[in-house]
Amino acid sequence: MSDSRPIIAANWKMHKTPQEGYRFAQQLVTKALNLPGVRFILFPSATGLFHIQDALKDTAIELGGQNMHAAQEGAYTGETSAPMLTACGCRWVIIGHSERRHIFHETDAGIRAKIPAALDAGLNVILCIGERLEERRDGSTEDILRRQLQGDLAGMETFPADRLIIAYEPVWAIGTGVVATPKQAGEAHAQVRAILQELFPGLPGDDAKILYGGSVKSANAAQLIQIPGIDGFLIGGASLDVDEYVKIAEISQIETKVES
Ligand code: PEP
Repeated sequence: MSDSRPIIAANWKMHKTPQEGYRFAQQLVTKALNLPGVRFILFPSATGLFHIQDALKDTAIELGGQNMHAAQEGAYTGETSAPMLTACGCRWVIIGHSERRHIFHETDAGIRAKIPAALDAGLNVILCIGERLEERRDGSTEDILRRQLQGDLAGMETFPADRLIIAYEPVWAIGTGVVATPKQAGEAHAQVRAILQELFPGLPGDDAKILYGGSVKSANAAQLIQIPGIDGFLIGGASLDVDEYVKIAEISQIETKVES
């Protein structure tokens, strides 16, 4: 991917009304003017997307959906399709978030169906993967990452590194306040990169972008963004406060030394 700026993505989960999201986006537009060295992507709940796209019009801040159905339309009560997301101004979608996998029982087969549907509709994808605590404890982290990547990306002939980003999110670090150590995060990112190269021979390792997610906040952002192989963050709780979110972006811009 040619854009080397760190990605600072905000996953609001089931927080913020459309009005609250709109106000946040308006504030972010002003605060982000000094931060051209990072790439902001907001992932509000589906109800806020249409409204929030107005606040982001003519800015570089991007918008995405937190989930989608693989079908374009149909009898799927409660679901949102890729064309519906693009019609709300989305350029991105998160697929396979651990809350979707573990609370809503999404499978690798289901996730695999969504990725081409998203790409075909013109959406870029953040694919989330990560191990549970018991899997880390029993030493199977790398096996889990391989199994998820193999399952989720099966059938893809090439890895579209400019449109498909991996978020490594250890499940035990999401929303817990427990953050992966630099060693744990660095190792896992290197493993993900190596697995992608195994699955897609010829993919230059540096082409794949891999975000870290799991209790990122301004107090730990500097340490994390300096780890080789971390290309940005997917942030949940700390992205709900615009000042904290912007602080993480400022730190990431400074630490990655992108000229502004
Ligand atoms: C997430 O929702 O993807 C996430 C990483 O959450 P948090 O930052 O709250 O751990």
